[in-house]
Amino acid sequence: HPTPIVTVDGPSGAGKGTLSSLLAKQLGWHFLDSGAIYRVLAVASLHHDLPCNDEESIVPLATGLDVSFETNGESSRIILEGEDVTDDIRTEQVGSVASQIAALPRVREALLRRQRAFQQAPGLVADGRDMGTVVFPDAPVKLFLTASAETRAERRYSQLKAKGMDVNIARLLTDIKARDERDANRSIAPLVPAEDAVVIDSTHLNIDQVFEKAMEIITSRL
Ligand code: C5P
Repeated sequence: HPTPIVTVDGPSGAGKGTLSSLLAKQLGWHFLDSGAIYRVLAVASLHHDLPCNDEESIVPLATGLDVSFETNGESSRIILEGEDVTDDIRTEQVGSVASQIAALPRVREALLRRQRAFQQAPGLVADGRDMGTVVFPDAPVKLFLTASAETRAERRYSQLKAKGMDVNIARLLTDIKARDERDANRSIAPLVPAEDAVVIDSTHLNIDQVFEKAMEIITSRL
């Protein structure tokens, strides 16, 4: 039997990260945060002063990216070229650069093998945009988590506010809509549910309800 995979795709702010890490914990499986890989690559590109449409230079950077995900009990850190970038990758600026870099076909291609290497026993929960469509098309369970743009902006606002960041909710909503637009309309790996994905709309659900729904789907399919 191949190592089982649960893919969790959807737009930013739908709660994929929270759901995926809860699922990985509950199942005792590995966790792939593919967005973090695009974000780390964005930070590396910024360090090297590369414009975010410079595919020629970003592809080799992606292939040779020296990144490691270190989990130590409850805490997990992301290390780029020996430097802890766990907090740096979460800014809105890095998210925006990441989404522009993610539109480059050869960059996505260059990151495929790195993402697939996360498929290890006893199982994997993979969080992203194209986990069920491109990276792990044979996954036995595919979830697509969505929520209205307004709800996602509100959740993001509370998250950033809790971290003590100064944020403007109208600006967040505009950014989220712009990123949705870019992610859904890019020619390569656009953000769409896989044909065999189960869609969960979390607009009116709290995290416990989403988790319960997801576990029901997973146990019925594995
Ligand atoms: O999920 P997160 O917001 O961390 O991802 C950052 C950006 O990386 C997204 O806006 C998206 O453009 C891109 N991404 C992607 N494919 C993935 C994961 C993330 O294109 N599998």
